[in-house]
Amino acid sequence: MSTRSLSLAPDIYRYLLEHSVREPPVLERLRAVTAEMPGAEMQVSPEQGQFMALLVKLLGASRIIELGTYTGYSSLAMALALPEAGHLIACDVSHEWTAVARRFWREAGVEQRIELKVQPALQTLDELLAQSEGRFDLAFVDADKGNYINYFEKLLRLVRRGGLICADNTLFVASTDIVHSDSAIARALKRFNDHVHHDERVDLAMVPIGEGLTLLRVR
Ligand code: CA
Repeated sequence: MSTRSLSLAPDIYRYLLEHSVREPPVLERLRAVTAEMPGAEMQVSPEQGQFMALLVKLLGASRIIELGTYTGYSSLAMALALPEAGHLIACDVSHEWTAVARRFWREAGVEQRIELKVQPALQTLDELLAQSEGRFDLAFVDADKGNYINYFEKLLRLVRRGGLICADNTLFVASTDIVHSDSAIARALKRFNDHVHHDERVDLAMVPIGEGLTLLRVR
């Protein structure tokens, strides 16, 4: 497998994959197709997809929102873990990438559970806020890093108490650690990490899986 996880020696990581990952064939095919595409490093790793599917089941989630869908690996992993009547809103700005996602959602037989919104995620969040608040069980944030704080603030009003906001890339971006990078993206992620660290509205854990995944439980 070509994907990586931070902080693990290659042989340990291989052991983790070989002894815990249960990747459904449809996700394996999607990963193979995505590996040939530009931006392939944006796809979540198989163990992270499995971890998020486990979170869906632990929460008993039936309503999920994802910001930053790309070719659909994480949305498909989560949608497969949803109950039959579950619903996932997938937000992205690319028709090209999400066309791949739609193909695989259909192939997996979960397309009826997923609603795709191709427009800026902030716009989608504002539209949802105008309808009703506190109705999502789980949010996964993996879109443009400069807006992470804005996404978080809006999601706090859209995710129910006890629900979870998951923010991706909180330690690494495209294999570059944010601690030693001064890129605009790294600085934005550091601002986000500082923003949530002592925020009394959430409980949190920064999990070293994939490129760093911060779990924020809404109090
Ligand atoms: Ca990511």
